[in-house]
Amino acid sequence: MKYIGAHISSSGGLEKAVFRAFQIKATAFSFFTRNQRQWISPPLDQETIYTFKQACIKYKFKPHQILPHSSYLINLGHPINNLLEKSRISFINEMLRCSELGLMFLNFHPGSHLNKITEHDCLLRISESINIALDKTKNIIAVIENTAGQGTNVGYCFEHLSEIIKHINDKSRVGVCIDTCHLFASGYDLRTQKDCENTFEQFNNIIGFKYLRGMHLNDSKRKINSRVDRHENLGLGEIGNLSFKWIVRNNNFCNIPIILETVDSTLWEKEISWLRLQQQL
Ligand SMILES: [Zn+2]
Ligand SMILES: [Zn+2]
Repeated sequence: MKYIGAHISSSGGLEKAVFRAFQIKATAFSFFTRNQRQWISPPLDQETIYTFKQACIKYKFKPHQILPHSSYLINLGHPINNLLEKSRISFINEMLRCSELGLMFLNFHPGSHLNKITEHDCLLRISESINIALDKTKNIIAVIENTAGQGTNVGYCFEHLSEIIKHINDKSRVGVCIDTCHLFASGYDLRTQKDCENTFEQFNNIIGFKYLRGMHLNDSKRKINSRVDRHENLGLGEIGNLSFKWIVRNNNFCNIPIILETVDSTLWEKEISWLRLQQQL
């Protein structure tokens, strides 16, 4: 089973995201559980938790079809200790919210070294941050996203993700989400069938499909290895349609949320139905 959806706005209430996902005929969705420009948000009230859970039941979204995304402010590999601490507190706050909402994943960008520590030290800090958060929470799986390698972001190669996972104590509660735009921008080709096979063979050898907990399907405005993160609608960018077709037809991507974060949200419904059609052809 392929669960396909998009990153949905939760403005006006978290339950609105569930309804909006249903409206575009999605079977998966991602969203922010809080204002992503704030470090800490007030705790969820019982009413919000209840209406969100009811909406999920009504519109048939199970926890494994939902991939909440954490705030972009958080840097779990921050080189400065008091700021690292601020990020860790904020991340734990997000994990607790996901837990209260009955969810199972929290997707986040690994972090940045800001040219103050080595990439490897940054990766170790990220692992430590995840270990602390897993200790302080229950059930939620920390889902690390690959990055385009823009600025001083780490996580732009499979080796980085695998190094972070290596230092996690409870490996049953860590996973990865692969964003196709970031993958391409960081130098992994996806333009031909052979490229897709090579790239995901490397993924399987270095990380392993058992850790794959989600996909972000985005085309890229920028060229391969540009290290610039600019999403484009499917088929309108440098990657092209073939790779998206290849992914939805491949059994390694079953039973995980497959999420569009493409720029023009008015095309999502069309993109979702196109992806479904490709599975059947
Ligand atoms: Zn992301
Ligand atoms: Zn991106």
